[in-house]
Amino acid sequence: MLNIVIFGAPGSGKGTQSDLIKEKYGLFHISTGDVLRSEIKNGTELGKIAEGYISKGQLVPDQLIIDMLASVLDANKGVKGVIFDGFPRTIAQAVALDEMLKARETAVSGVVALEVEENELIQRLLKRGEISGRSDDNMETIKSRLDVYNNQTSPLIDHYKASGKYIGIQGMGSIDDIFGRISQAIDKL
Ligand code: AMP
Repeated sequence: MLNIVIFGAPGSGKGTQSDLIKEKYGLFHISTGDVLRSEIKNGTELGKIAEGYISKGQLVPDQLIIDMLASVLDANKGVKGVIFDGFPRTIAQAVALDEMLKARETAVSGVVALEVEENELIQRLLKRGEISGRSDDNMETIKSRLDVYNNQTSPLIDHYKASGKYIGIQGMGSIDDIFGRISQAIDKL
């Protein structure tokens, strides 16, 4: 299986690039943010819990996310590979992902990390907020999401560098140029 983690700060282009990767390589795309938003829309127990964290820009507790991801994986057995988008966001989630994939006799193939300057991230998220209607794309919540990224998620960079899986991709410029750089990296995996 080809299992790609698409990694980066909020607004780095993970969702946009995941759609292109999914098409080109025939992978199954799991966005934990999208799964949570659909749980909220459907009014599930998980959705009710998640809503409070998402609206404040905080992370939903690890165990809830890990269990949710395991059930999505189990419901989609037999896929060629998976793009993990928005997961892992903590070291505990990365450890759990390795265990989950090992139990399914596979592993993370590579971590495609979109590197984008913070000013650009804020501009992109504010612009998205004008059209997405996402409750967390406003200045106050964007700031806390970036703090959460810097404090809780960015340690994953060294974690994946240490295992040799980190692939840094310059994430500024046109969508096509960025996708070109990502494709070159994936083709080498
Ligand atoms: P995203 O769509 O990836 O930007 O995620 C939106 C929000 O969903 C985040 O700000 C978190 O509140 C929550 N979320 C998504 N993925 C995770 C995760 N892996 N761990 C914890 N919270 C998450």
